[in-house]
Amino acid sequence: MLDADFFRRWMTAAAASVDREAQRLTDLDSPIGDADHGSNLQRGFTAVVAALEKEAPPTPGGVLTLAGHQLISTVGGASGPLYGTLLRRAGKALGDAAEVDTGQLAEALRAGVDGVMTLGGAAPGDKTMIDALLPAVDALGDGFAAARAAAEEGAVATIPLQARKGRASYLGARSIGHQDPGATSSALLIAALEDAAE
Ligand code: ADP
Ligand code: MG
Ligand code: MG
Repeated sequence: MLDADFFRRWMTAAAASVDREAQRLTDLDSPIGDADHGSNLQRGFTAVVAALEKEAPPTPGGVLTLAGHQLISTVGGASGPLYGTLLRRAGKALGDAAEVDTGQLAEALRAGVDGVMTLGGAAPGDKTMIDALLPAVDALGDGFAAARAAAEEGAVATIPLQARKGRASYLGARSIGHQDPGATSSALLIAALEDAAE
């Protein structure tokens, strides 16, 4: 079972991973964006970790809701409200249970991804974070390692796609041939589940 402590470790591992990969995320956002994705998420996840240290919510749902709120209020870019919605919706779906299993986590993240698609209007194949998140949620029933592999595969699979949402879509066909920064950071977020489980 996964308790609040697991979810805190997940957010802390995600923050560490974003820190390590910030330059790469910003570099990916350079040819098809405005070169700020790494710094946007660094600012956001730094605030998430600080808030969790201060408040330490007692439930998994509370941890994700607080994390989502921090991302919405500290990340200026499109990714802040989108990741914030992902985590807040997932947190709401987990309710006030003290512990949840992987199936409940998968269900909650599916609700979160639905929220992201509603807010941002992106469908699978539009070259966004959805292209890593949705396959990861589908694979989560087979474990964290399977989810990580699916997310990483989904992120790489954005390379030949033409962006239809977000800043990259302004480039039209010139967005083809570049990996989407948001799909790449989503793969980091999913990979951090494995770190939290260790
Ligand atoms: P900004 O584009 O405002 O600078 P970021 O650089 O932080 O924001 O984030 C860009 C990422 O956000 C993209 O790579 C993409 O994955 C994701 N994104 C942008 N718009 C959408 C959307 N409408 N739906 C889903 N994801 C989106
Ligand atoms: Mg950007
Ligand atoms: Mg920006």
